[in-house]
Amino acid sequence: MNESENMRAKRNLDLVTPGERLGVIEEFQAGGGTYVEKGVIYSRALGKVIVDLERKRISVQPKTRIPPLLRKGVQILGEVQQVQDKMATIKVLSINGEKLSRPYTAVLHISYAVRGFLRSLYDALRPGDLVKAMVIGDENLPCQLTTIGRRLGVVRAYCTRCGSPLTYNRGRKILECRECGKTERRKVSEDYGAI
Ligand SMILES: [Zn+2]
Repeated sequence: MNESENMRAKRNLDLVTPGERLGVIEEFQAGGGTYVEKGVIYSRALGKVIVDLERKRISVQPKTRIPPLLRKGVQILGEVQQVQDKMATIKVLSINGEKLSRPYTAVLHISYAVRGFLRSLYDALRPGDLVKAMVIGDENLPCQLTTIGRRLGVVRAYCTRCGSPLTYNRGRKILECRECGKTERRKVSEDYGAI
């Protein structure tokens, strides 16, 4: 795009990316999905330009809905990726029950996995497990999670020997494999098996 084209106001239904120049405030009012800097209107989102000539308003209709952010206090459902002794990575699949089209990666540190002492994170979760967790830190990326709390923790787990889904024995407080008989431990959520 050359300079003169760039200076011209965008037309109705043009596709724009965030930060793209849309027009100037002498010509248009800045509508939704835009922001103004030094008299110039820019797009805040990837989307379609909507020019309302009657009201002299320019706005951007986002193409994709902006995913809800991983803010402190929100509950997530995620799949355990890698597990090390002190740290695990979790692929966040949904936030407050809303499914994400593009998953985020968050981390769980051993000190936020259970109340009390834990020797290794392997004793709380394993790769492939589905976990319910809460975001406790959103200042730095990746976000920090916790699984401390009765309803937080593993909600679905698979046998590390045969891959079958494990059943929670509430009396013995242990996960059992009905296929091969193996028993396993996790930091189990009260909602185990309900999701
Ligand atoms: Zn098994």
